[in-house]
Amino acid sequence: MPEQNSPLDLAEGDPFGPHNLPYGVFSTHDHPEDRRVGVRIGGHVLDAGAAAHTLGSPYAQLLAQPDLTALLSAGRTAWRDVRRALTAWVTVPAHRPDIEPLLHPVESVTLHMPYAVADYVDFYASENHATNVGKIFRPDGAALTPNWKHLPIGYHGRSGTVVVSGTDVVRPSGQRKAPSDAAPVFGPSVKLDIEAEVGFVVGVPSEQGRPVPLGRFRDHVFGLSLLNDWSARDLQAWEYVPLGPFLGKSFATSVSPWVTPLEALEAARIAPPARDFPLLPYLDDTGEEEPGGLDLRIAVAINGQVVAEPPFATMYWTAAQMLAHMTVNGASLRTGDLYGSGTVSGAEPGQRGSLLELTWNGSEPLELPEGKRTFLEDGDTVTMTAWAPGPDGTRVGLGEVTGRIVPTP
Ligand code: CA
Repeated sequence: MPEQNSPLDLAEGDPFGPHNLPYGVFSTHDHPEDRRVGVRIGGHVLDAGAAAHTLGSPYAQLLAQPDLTALLSAGRTAWRDVRRALTAWVTVPAHRPDIEPLLHPVESVTLHMPYAVADYVDFYASENHATNVGKIFRPDGAALTPNWKHLPIGYHGRSGTVVVSGTDVVRPSGQRKAPSDAAPVFGPSVKLDIEAEVGFVVGVPSEQGRPVPLGRFRDHVFGLSLLNDWSARDLQAWEYVPLGPFLGKSFATSVSPWVTPLEALEAARIAPPARDFPLLPYLDDTGEEEPGGLDLRIAVAINGQVVAEPPFATMYWTAAQMLAHMTVNGASLRTGDLYGSGTVSGAEPGQRGSLLELTWNGSEPLELPEGKRTFLEDGDTVTMTAWAPGPDGTRVGLGEVTGRIVPTP
């Protein structure tokens, strides 16, 4: 009798091989209300709680949950041990009879927001992006503000409107006022944009009044997702002086459904770009044991056409520096905190992570098969994907974050 193919027999180079094992939350069509922790392996999702239960694992309590909160808050030792157990479950042949019935084809399940977002913060850590934005909005001044190379600039966003990939995005309305307009007008945004970012997910909380130093980053941050910080440039331009982004950003932020643990990204760790100025001690990472940068290769597509390939390796500020800065005043962390890197833009025109930069504020439209684009039109679908170098020449797939623009009601 010919042997049946197992879903665990993956093609060589599968970006969701046992070296990856990202976490998410899924439900099946038969039980849409029953949310479960899933781990992606190849083209399937493993029901992790059921696997832990079947195999008599001590981690059943952490995994038989409706979301990732228990796992996120369990801490680094538990994260490592659970990952070790999962690796064995999907690679040791003796486990196959128990594991195979618990695998669901990824296209057959619904993926949900994998954790409740506590606080949401967004940074501005790409020098190329900040420089481009400075040139567009302040053509007569210095591209970078005087503080930019001394601290990672950020703002507090709206956690309640962070949505999982696949959620439609309603075109926001608001006030806008072009310099030539006598008075502001109200209506649907005419400059709806994207920002290709990476979002870092905090697992272990910290105590209010106690900063989290650079060296404790891995004790608190569990992993990362892709993030699209939808931005209404016309609303933003009129409202942001002097307190920063508000309604131009808070209507929606999309994240990919898979949270890739930092442990899967060891081979992607690289040194960040050289810093031009000495940093204050709490941000100075020159003495840190592990390099703080990450080599993540992002691709941005509009209606299936790739328009940019932003390299995360070029980010000036690291995720550890962002965390250290965010807490240096004593602000505490909570399980489920999410912080975005800011738009990832490389030095080349084809590496820019926003339409603002790709079209130079609408003055240089993109040529797409369906026509010219300056900013997003109703019906456009934006999809960001990414991968990172994995062990032994493999790739670690980070999945995708996608969203479609629907008209203002
Ligand atoms: Ca942003």
